[in-house]
Amino acid sequence: MSEEFFWWTDSQKAIYKDVRQFVEENLEEAEEYFWNTKFPWPLVKKVAKKGYFGVGVPKEYGGLELGATGSCIVAAQLGRLYAVGHVFTVSMLAGLEQLLRFGTDEQKKVWLPKIAEGEELGALCITEPFAGSDAANVFTSAIKEGDEWVLNGKKRFITGAGVSDRYFIYAKTSDDKALRKQYGHITAFMVEKGRPGFSLEKINPLIGFDNVPNGYIDFDHVRIPDFNRIGAVGNGWNVMMAGLNFERLIGAAVFSGLVEDVINLLFHFTKRRVQFRRTINQFPGIQEKIAEIIAKAKVCTLYSYHCAKLIDDGGEPMVEASIAKMINTEYARDIALKAIQILGGDGLTKFLPAERILREAKIGEIVAGTTEVQKMIIYRFCAMLPSYNKPMRMRWNDEVNAPIISRKESQFKGLDVTEENVLKVISHDYKINPGLYMTPDDVREDIGGSRSELRKIFEQLEEQKLIVIHRDRSGKTALVKATYEGLQKSFPKEYYQWFPAWYENADKF
Ligand SMILES: Cc1cc2nc3c(=O)[nH]c(=O)nc-3n(C[C@H](O)[C@H](O)[C@H](O)COP(=O)(O)OP(=O)(O)OC[C@H]3O[C@@H](n4cnc5c(N)ncnc54)[C@H](O)[C@@H]3O)c2cc1C
Repeated sequence: MSEEFFWWTDSQKAIYKDVRQFVEENLEEAEEYFWNTKFPWPLVKKVAKKGYFGVGVPKEYGGLELGATGSCIVAAQLGRLYAVGHVFTVSMLAGLEQLLRFGTDEQKKVWLPKIAEGEELGALCITEPFAGSDAANVFTSAIKEGDEWVLNGKKRFITGAGVSDRYFIYAKTSDDKALRKQYGHITAFMVEKGRPGFSLEKINPLIGFDNVPNGYIDFDHVRIPDFNRIGAVGNGWNVMMAGLNFERLIGAAVFSGLVEDVINLLFHFTKRRVQFRRTINQFPGIQEKIAEIIAKAKVCTLYSYHCAKLIDDGGEPMVEASIAKMINTEYARDIALKAIQILGGDGLTKFLPAERILREAKIGEIVAGTTEVQKMIIYRFCAMLPSYNKPMRMRWNDEVNAPIISRKESQFKGLDVTEENVLKVISHDYKINPGLYMTPDDVREDIGGSRSELRKIFEQLEEQKLIVIHRDRSGKTALVKATYEGLQKSFPKEYYQWFPAWYENADKF
């Protein structure tokens, strides 16, 4: 994310300049760890010394208090330092938002300064053998024994496994079926490395995240004090959700600095590569691809900071965080593919960063909720929003002889609510929306009457096969539509006919 935005505070603008310079100074060192596939501990310590791990931590706990916007700024730049970006984001995600919203004062005093210092890394542990996209299906159990909790189970795909000291985990604290239905069976805990029974099981060989360990951890009768429980017992789902908006946003932001480097590389490369006696930047196809890359990068940047601002203003932008996550990762994959195409064979080598972005972007499309899951969230939440559910009733307009969106009352309003008139309302709707059903409330809006009165009439009309009722899963009448017989009974054929003015009478039959 290479642009400053006018709504950033002076401190956010200042950290942007500061972290950019830090990254420029350390790019070469990061490259060396990447090539040697070594975890970049010395570089991580330098990041900690700069105080960047505390970017989102309040000042009273030793942080910089620059919010989600500041966290995005730092993540975007540190993403250019290979493994460092991922370790940085995950370490913040392992408790920051969750503690800020659900931690007690004592818990904040213990862990927030640790997050801010960055001396210890953190890992976020949701995923398990049984729980992937269905994150509520955790089997790792926490059973209370006196003042302690005893943990048993496994977590997998944990970024920073092994190198982290703090593990923010979600465990099942109840098997009650009713509680599970309300997501009340999960509780959040902080587990420190070194507790007896807590071990590292496996490190995954992955398509990307080259020098970041990602693996499985095992809890075998691990005892932790009740102090390590974050939020109320059974409130883990809310704790997880609070952290997830932030996680999706920051996890997405980490790509944008990399993309900026690729755009730089593309200008550099295409001005120096000659084919058919021309530098390849003169080919319209190359220019078009670079233009598309820039446009996508800018859309991602703008959208991410819009989402960050919503979080900083105290919002819960679930839809926006999902969109940010989805477009940042999808676009990053597309940008990487286009960049490789522009770079030709060189783009496929590890000597240039395009292939790495492709591998990381693919991971991005799966971690922290797959793209499919983001789409599910976007759809489900938007389907409930009043702004997308405004009435769009169409009424027949005799003057223009067509159905148009109208706020006028229905021509049937005021008629007696009888079988005959209700059928007329439903049949008339065929003239306007031949393929659609009406909701019971649509019918009620047109003719009036009570819901129960109409329900009885619908059932009577259905019995006579004059309408079809579409029922929801619970058996309730959800939609109604006139049958052929119903249409015939209500109006003569001519009522439904419609021809454009140019159509010859002679051709009608
Ligand atoms: C490199 C890497 C780092 C990770 N880091 C962490 C970490 O630090 N902490 C952590 O807890 N987890 C981490 N994960 C786990 C990651 O969040 C999960 O892999 C991810 O949520 C998907 O779960 P899954 O792999 O079990 O896939 P599944 O949930 O089994 O999904 C398989 C396929 O089914 C689709 N699918 C599932 N449900 C639906 C649905 N309802 N509608 C439509 N399609 C659906 C998915 O989109 C996907 O295409 C990491 C994973 C990787 C690869």
